[in-house]
Amino acid sequence: MTKKKLIAGNWKMNGGLAANEALLRALLAGLGQPSADVAVCAPAPYLAQLQGLLAGGPIGWGAQDLSAHEQGAYTGEVSAAMLKDFGCRYAIVGHSERRQYHGETDATVAAKAQRALAAGITPIVCVGETLVEREAEQTEAVVKRQLAAVIHAVAHCTSEIVVAYEPVWAIGTGQTATPEQAQQVHAVLRAQLAAATHQAERVHILYGGSMNAANAASLLAQPDIDGGLIGGASLKAPDFLRIIAAAH
Ligand code: PEP
Repeated sequence: MTKKKLIAGNWKMNGGLAANEALLRALLAGLGQPSADVAVCAPAPYLAQLQGLLAGGPIGWGAQDLSAHEQGAYTGEVSAAMLKDFGCRYAIVGHSERRQYHGETDATVAAKAQRALAAGITPIVCVGETLVEREAEQTEAVVKRQLAAVIHAVAHCTSEIVVAYEPVWAIGTGQTATPEQAQQVHAVLRAQLAAATHQAERVHILYGGSMNAANAASLLAQPDIDGGLIGGASLKAPDFLRIIAAAH
């Protein structure tokens, strides 16, 4: 089954009103008719701006996180329903920076994925091993554990999630997994999805970790790499556009 690839930008804690507008206008001007689906995930305060600039166009948008709770006394949290109010199609959950710096556990990530789906938002579920875990040959066990928690929580909705394999050692380091290394893990994740849903082929499994204009084509050519989650290179319109063009 062929499906469109998905190229999603993760702006992380970057941007500002003027810079966002310039970036989005440059993307819209350069995009043409992409053969991939395209989205950008922005900091929460800018979601209204994205909705204003992108609604009805070829670029979807999303958040970088959401609360595991539905509503109430959770100061500083942003709920799935609030993201929905601003037209979010996606929400990243379980990014390694949130697991590392904010203590998010597999259970938290699973609860967030569940909240997103319940609100009609597609969770982009990040999994990935650290360098220490890779060197200890724990890669497969780690990503399977991380994905299992989400599959268990979302059950019959498993085919509606997006998975992003992001080796922690490759994020923001300029050190990319080789296409073979990435494909090996993607195949493991696909098999795990297939054990949970007969629609595993429908699920987008993205690669993330220093994907750029130069290495995108070889990564995206792998049979189980269905797109990319792009950090640094999504902040520069020419680079992001070249990655999108490499996805067909
Ligand atoms: C990310 O943060 O999701 C990411 C993949 O970052 P980078 O592309 O900068 O490595």
